[in-house]
Amino acid sequence: MSGSAIQSPVTLAVLPGDGIGREIMPPTVEVLKAVGRQFDIPFAFKEAPVGGAAIDATGRPLPPETLALAKASDAVLLGAVGGPKWEGLDYAVRPERALLGLREALGLYANLRPAVLASELIDASPLRRELVEGTDIMVVRELTGGIYFGRPKGVETVGGPGGEERGVNTEVYTTHEIDRIARVAFEIARKRRKRVTSIDKANVLESSELWRRVVNGVHKDFQDVELRHMYVDNCAMQLIKDPRQFDVIVTTNMFGDILSDEAAQVVGSIGLLPSASLGDAMLGRKGGGRKGLYEPIHGSAPDIAGRDMANPLATILSAAMLLRYTLGHEPAAAAVEQAVMAVLRAGRRTADIARPGTTPIGTAEMGRLVIEQIEHKGAAHVA
Ligand code: NAD
Repeated sequence: MSGSAIQSPVTLAVLPGDGIGREIMPPTVEVLKAVGRQFDIPFAFKEAPVGGAAIDATGRPLPPETLALAKASDAVLLGAVGGPKWEGLDYAVRPERALLGLREALGLYANLRPAVLASELIDASPLRRELVEGTDIMVVRELTGGIYFGRPKGVETVGGPGGEERGVNTEVYTTHEIDRIARVAFEIARKRRKRVTSIDKANVLESSELWRRVVNGVHKDFQDVELRHMYVDNCAMQLIKDPRQFDVIVTTNMFGDILSDEAAQVVGSIGLLPSASLGDAMLGRKGGGRKGLYEPIHGSAPDIAGRDMANPLATILSAAMLLRYTLGHEPAAAAVEQAVMAVLRAGRRTADIARPGTTPIGTAEMGRLVIEQIEHKGAAHVA
């Protein structure tokens, strides 16, 4: 990993989106600027609308200009999209379509969602310390297949005019899609505790039966890694009962979406969980998908939007993943993560992770404290 100065500009597409996306993005950009000053990384930020904001501005959730910017940039930093204002729209033009469009267009099929319980935050978990201490899970979620993309889909009227309606979505996975995400999971596990749990519903779903068979086939190339299979309903229970049993979880688009929210709550709050969406080139393979997309796992949180209450740390930690995966700059990534931990150690918390009886701080203040830590550390380093 390189820690040396980067010469050519690193272009970042900044897509704040909607709701709290507009509040968590400014401190994250400021954190990147601070880390850029510290490590001589010449960032060039370009902002564009996405989701509901883009619908309001252009009528489309992913305007061609925004997609072009994402394609032309070294990486994409995204806030969150969606909200009640756009809920009545056709699915094809809803804010959330922008996410699927970006992932598909950039070839980002592997979504890495680390759920790590920081020792500073044991009291923020709803689970007892003896159950949860040491939890460190990497959820590897397949991102461009499954029921979110499968066809046929839609709502149709059956039995003639005035007949009842039928809603359809289709879970589809091909051998190739399962093979490549399984390889990502095994490779990551090799650098961790060498344990992969593959989550499916193979007792009921044919697509899961294929999933399990292909994962078993890929495992033959990774005999040094332990593999076990678990049904998704059991996994939902095991995450609460004994989260430390998991190292790497690999699963489908929808199961990963749901289980990672659960894992987030186990380690304190959805406001803490970052993610990286990567494609072949970023994962060291031949093929497309040179961009990384980095975003918190949470949504636009309309219930707290505009109130300076959102936790910006999931987005700030997503920026740390950007420094690690897109730039390969481990010292800069570690500087951001250490600054976050220092602020938490000092007891400064946003409302979602505040200890009972303490006064929470706001989004902007949390961002300011993280930057202060980065600059303080840097000053100490220089001195
Ligand atoms: P959500 O993740 O927005 O919120 C769920 C709960 O978590 C809310 O109580 C919210 O206040 C809280 N929360 C979320 N992020 C937080 C943060 N950073 N700090 C503190 N608390 C936080 O999920 P939802 O309410 O189901 O969805 C709201 C909208 O977001 C919907 O339109 C949905 O489609 C969209 N959504 C977008 C994404 C995305 O952009 N990647 C992901 C999920 C949901």
